[in-house]
Amino acid sequence: MEIKSVRGVRDLLPHQVEKLRYIEKVCREVVEKYGFVEIILPTIEEFYLYQHSIGQTSDIVVKQMFEIVNRGEDSNKKLVLRPEGTAGVVRAFVEHNFKNKFPLKRFFYFGQMFRYERPQKGRFREFYQFGIEIFNEPQIASDLVLINIINKILTALKVKYDLEINSIGCKKCREEFEKILVKKLSSLKLCDVCKDRLNKNPLRIFDCKIDAEKLKEKFSDELNIQNYLCNTCRNSFERILDAFNKQGIRYKINPMLVRGLDYYNGFVFEYKTELLDAAQNTLCAGGRYDGLLYRFLKEDVYACGAAFGIDRIMEVINIDKKENLKVGIAVVDDKYLLDGFNIGEELVNCFKDIVIVGPFSGKSLKSQLRLFNNENCKYVLLIGDEIKENKVVVKDFINKIQQTVEMKKLKEIIL
Ligand code: ATP
Ligand code: MG
Repeated sequence: MEIKSVRGVRDLLPHQVEKLRYIEKVCREVVEKYGFVEIILPTIEEFYLYQHSIGQTSDIVVKQMFEIVNRGEDSNKKLVLRPEGTAGVVRAFVEHNFKNKFPLKRFFYFGQMFRYERPQKGRFREFYQFGIEIFNEPQIASDLVLINIINKILTALKVKYDLEINSIGCKKCREEFEKILVKKLSSLKLCDVCKDRLNKNPLRIFDCKIDAEKLKEKFSDELNIQNYLCNTCRNSFERILDAFNKQGIRYKINPMLVRGLDYYNGFVFEYKTELLDAAQNTLCAGGRYDGLLYRFLKEDVYACGAAFGIDRIMEVINIDKKENLKVGIAVVDDKYLLDGFNIGEELVNCFKDIVIVGPFSGKSLKSQLRLFNNENCKYVLLIGDEIKENKVVVKDFINKIQQTVEMKKLKEIIL
């Protein structure tokens, strides 16, 4: 029977892992400069956590959850694989009393997320996110920090991006707006999910990938949330725009940008790329979610955050391959194996960025050399009779020269 990886998930092979780790490293290095500390969250959480945070009507909760069989002592709890990171961070915040534990409440996480989606380029059922969350810091400084950090990371990764922003206001602003939405959009022939959204969470209609074109055509000033912002929301959005203008941050206001999760309020944003199809061209997304902590803590805590879609960034970047000094260790006969191992150990201990290949037993010299050549070794050390006089033959594969070298000089030669 042929066994293959399951639909929508994939193996990451070494060249892909190299990219993923590089992106992770860049993200990590930037956020640590701004005082963010890492938390590692469990992959399994209670379904209730997401239902209560992401929202009953969100795509994730309605149709994208990977439920797992719970046969434990608390089998009445419905368990799922995490579809995103923010809800888990918020749960940890409450569970471990972050409020009193950390004076600065800036956290980051990295790891796999799981959503049951239709797999396509840049959209998988198991994918990676790098996320940042800031708690207890009111707008607008925390919004500016987020945007500055994301710009820095994408620039360091040499990704060309377009930043789209919006304000989805507070409950107060949305009340009137949602009524108008329902009135205006009821006559449109919408997809089944949107019909449901119209009753339960009309704003999220704008996040629909199926009805996107229809909504764009129908879009008017009346459907523009920007025109419904209360004074407080309008002011804070304008302060953000003003700061962006002064900082020279390029952005586009997209009044149809609403985000797919329920917990957002006020300032929201998405970073898009032209290099991927419109349905999955968002590389990083986030915004404010000041109301979310209240749902769990019954206390108001300011919050904002963002998540990078690492798999999509992997699609759009090229990285310079790190060239380590690669040295092959060949033995002309198996009786020199231990000498080969000892020399290899010495080199590994001496050089920080060296890669040694070999020694191998039971292989002809010819096949050893072929392997070193295919592995792109810069040097090959031939261990043979000369070792009795503490010497080895060094083959320089690049300059095509060969010389017999005293062991104590070896390190200088291959430096
Ligand atoms: P989309 O609208 O593309 O479905 P989303 O709004 O569901 O994205 P978020 O929950 O905000 O996405 O997640 C943040 C980022 O994670 C996205 O912008 C995207 O880059 C990435 N992402 C989300 N879902 C997937 C997936 N199934 N496969 C790969 N990356 C994903
Ligand atoms: Mg989605």
